[in-house]
Amino acid sequence: MKIPVSLLSTYLYCSRKLFLERVLLLEEPPKESVVMGSIRHEFYDSINKKEEGIVSSITKKVPLDSIKSLYRKEYLAILWKAITNNKRMLDEVNINMPDAYKKSFQFITEEASLRATNIFKFIEANEVFGEELWQRLTPKIMSELRVESDVLKLKGIVDQIHVYDKEYVPFELKTGKVPQDGVWPSHRIQIAAYSLLLQEHFNTPIKEGYIFYLDTKERRHIAINQFMVEEVMRIVDEVIAVIESKDLPEFCNNENKCRKCGLRQVCYNEEEIKNLIKVRTNLRNHS
Ligand code: SF4
Repeated sequence: MKIPVSLLSTYLYCSRKLFLERVLLLEEPPKESVVMGSIRHEFYDSINKKEEGIVSSITKKVPLDSIKSLYRKEYLAILWKAITNNKRMLDEVNINMPDAYKKSFQFITEEASLRATNIFKFIEANEVFGEELWQRLTPKIMSELRVESDVLKLKGIVDQIHVYDKEYVPFELKTGKVPQDGVWPSHRIQIAAYSLLLQEHFNTPIKEGYIFYLDTKERRHIAINQFMVEEVMRIVDEVIAVIESKDLPEFCNNENKCRKCGLRQVCYNEEEIKNLIKVRTNLRNHS
């Protein structure tokens, strides 16, 4: 069995929620933050794929403002495409497309400005253009790489990998509340799990990773060590045990988590849960 890396986070949030989602097959209703987050994910994936074309098209020295407007134009077109691709989900959370555009506009223009400034500085320092500019530019960013491993019993899609010569650094993009220091525990485990997968995939050690908090545009560093490897392996086994179990785990006893949980109504409805477990057990017995 290979489990998605995202299940490690669900398990750390609440093992009962993992059971409700994976064993009883319940789904949380979509939330505005999740829908806007998936638009941002799609946006980042697309801009990384377009980066080579944008950078290679700069064939001579131009002012910083020209590079900024080049990026801005490309990015706003990509944003609109990501919004139209997610229209159905936006409808479900009652956001119309112009509002989604307005909500993302500032963040997108800041990103365009940041990337344009980096390129401008690289050109100033190295005096290279076009294809050579792209070839020499570091880091290069790979996005949405699918990885899996029978040994680790894990699979997943890494949001971004920054490639410096032969060094690979995974990045996870996250929306939502940012911790005061460091990263949330579930994010730490996720990046550790992806590091292990990438280590096997590229056959090279991965020493560090980052969580990029999209709302504040902060990147938080995580050093990968042997203890984290053991922790990931232990959690993977615990997740598999919950998925294969017939027993519903206890409530998580954390009011905050339950308040934010999209499954709270059914979770606290004993009768409904009993019925769902009965249906599931029957299905299992007949399969
Ligand atoms: S409502 Fe609370 S106990 Fe129930 S699944 Fe959600 S977080 Fe877990």
